Order: sequence, then C-alpha cells, then structure tokens
Amino acid sequence: MDEFEIIRQYFDRESADENVLVGIGDDGAVTRPSAGRDLVTVIDTIVSGVHFPSDLSPADIGYRAVAVNLSDMAAMAATPRWMTLALTLNRAEPSWLEGFAQGLFSAADEYDVILIGGDTTRGNDVVVTVQLTGEVDAGAMLLRSGASASDSIYVTGTIGDAMAGLSVLQSGTPQDDDSIYLVNRFARPKARVCAARNIAHFASAAIDLSDGLFTDIGKLLMASGVSGRIELNRIPLSPQLRRTMATDDALRAALGGGDDYELCFTTAATEDVVYKVSRQSGVAMTCIGVVESGAGLRCTLDGKQFDYHDEGYLHFR
Ligand code: ADP
Ligand code: MG
Repeated sequence: MDEFEIIRQYFDRESADENVLVGIGDDGAVTRPSAGRDLVTVIDTIVSGVHFPSDLSPADIGYRAVAVNLSDMAAMAATPRWMTLALTLNRAEPSWLEGFAQGLFSAADEYDVILIGGDTTRGNDVVVTVQLTGEVDAGAMLLRSGASASDSIYVTGTIGDAMAGLSVLQSGTPQDDDSIYLVNRFARPKARVCAARNIAHFASAAIDLSDGLFTDIGKLLMASGVSGRIELNRIPLSPQLRRTMATDDALRAALGGGDDYELCFTTAATEDVVYKVSRQSGVAMTCIGVVESGAGLRCTLDGKQFDYHDEGYLHFR
C-alpha cells in the first residue's frame, strides 16, 4: 500500500463544512475564517516510546494525538475547527491504520473538527503530529499572562490520574475497574473545550495541564509576572486514584505527573460564580490556591509549608 492509497483509504473523508474550500487532495488546504473571529493555531507531536508506550493501541494513539491539541485549544478558550496530520510510520499495516484512523476521527468528530490535509512518511518509529486551527471571537482569547494577585487558582476535573494510568499500563494489562479507569484517563484525555468557553468571560488566565500541575501553574504565574500558593489537600484526586495509591504518592502523581489535560485557570470571580459554571459545564472546578505578588509557586500541606521540587517533563535535560 503506497501513501496515496493510505490517504485515500483511511484519511480522505467527505466533510460538510462550507468553510473548507479545499480539503485533502491539492497542494494546500484552503479554509475561510468566520467574520469577526481570530484564528488560533496549535501543534503537538507525540512520539512512540516518549509520549506513549509503543504498545498503546493504535486507536488510543489516534485519539490522543487529537486530544492533546484540543486541550491546547481549550486553554485558549477557542473553538477547534480544522486539523492537519503528519504521520510517520515504519510500515503500512492495514489493521493498525484502521484502528488509528478510528481513534483519530472519534476525537475529531466529538468536537466537529475536520481533517483537511497532512503528510505521510516512512521512518523508524511512530511519530504523529497534529496541527489544529480554531477560532475565537476577535480579541477574546484566554492567555497565560492575565493573572493578578488575589485571584483564585482553580483546576478542572481530577489531577494525577493519567500518570497513575501510565504506570498501570507499564506494569501490564489493567484488570480491575480502577486500573481501567486510570488507563483510560491517560489514553483518552477529555479536552475541556466546552468548559473553557464557559469560564472565558470571568477567567483572568489559563493553561492546560500537560507537563504536571506544579510546572504548569509555574508557567502561568511566570507569564503573568506573579507568584502563587496552593494547598495540597485541596487538589482534587479521583476515588480511583485514592484507592490505587497512598495519599502521598497520589499527591506526587498530581503535582509531578503530566498528561492530565485538565485546565488550570485563575479568576477574581467568587466561588458561587465558578460553581454555577461548573454545574452548567458538567465539569468539576476546584479552588486549590491563590495568586500573590512576587515570583514562584509555594505549596502548603494542611496550611504548613511543604517543600516540593520538580521540573516537570523536559525533553532535553
Ligand atoms: P505534496 O506532495 O504536495 O506535499 P502529498 O502528495 O504529500 O502532497 O499529499 C497529497 C494530499 O494528501 C495533500 O492534500 C495532503 O495534504 C494530503 N495528505 C497527505 N498525508 C495525509 C494524511 N496523513 N492525512 C490527511 N491528509 C494527508
Ligand atoms: Mg505539493
């Protein structure tokens, strides 16, 4: 099967989006942005053996490649629209491609994202790059840099599950319900696209949690030129994580483990306002700390200073 056969068979689908003027098949794709909207572009590469275990199912690899980009789009409070796919494979195995395309399109379909082009190449390992373009009302994007002292720091969902799920995967096939839940949190992250749009009008800053809570909050605070304090007891941990790990380990998974793809945002709004939006969105939003002036991120445990050192995930350390 040559690359054109691969594209035709697995990736070239009909789409009904009238803003896609030219999709797969020409030298470039042509899309038309909606009037009064700004374009947001994100890109993320996932590499076999680096970002996911090489035996992760092809459907999960496809899903995840899209989901990590949807999460970046959510963090900008933008609506995802069109994506391109650069796929590097060692060999063209129909069952692998079938599963991969199914996972990829299931994530794309959940958010009405259309695949408009890509590149297919041969290489030693599976490398998947998805580039995603979205739209946001002119000037209404949510940035990392808007947090001010005395804003509250919130996170969506529960934190630490993905890292626990990855270690379950690495130690064999998950058997019990808790392990299956945690593995799924790693393999099929749910980008908070809708919740992000709902918080956009009162959030001052946001970042998605890909490299670990401690590192990522640090990036938001740095971009905003402020410091912050979080209380570790307030970090929302899932019952599945609590049953799988001792509290200490669960907290370490939450602070240092990446891949959760939840959102962290800051806001001057009251808890009532946030909880109302949380209920409307069907996504938990938990206040875990406060923004302060100065620099750095400090942790407390039951109100007492807790020294935590972590640099998150770095590719070239
Ligand atoms: P070119 O040589 O001009 O770069 P290609 O022959 O590589 O174009 O690709 C042909 C068409 O197929 C292009 O429209 C390209 O965007 C699309 N394409 C290539 N690979 C993929 C893929 N993995 N998924 C979706 N579209 C793809
Ligand atoms: Mg060309």
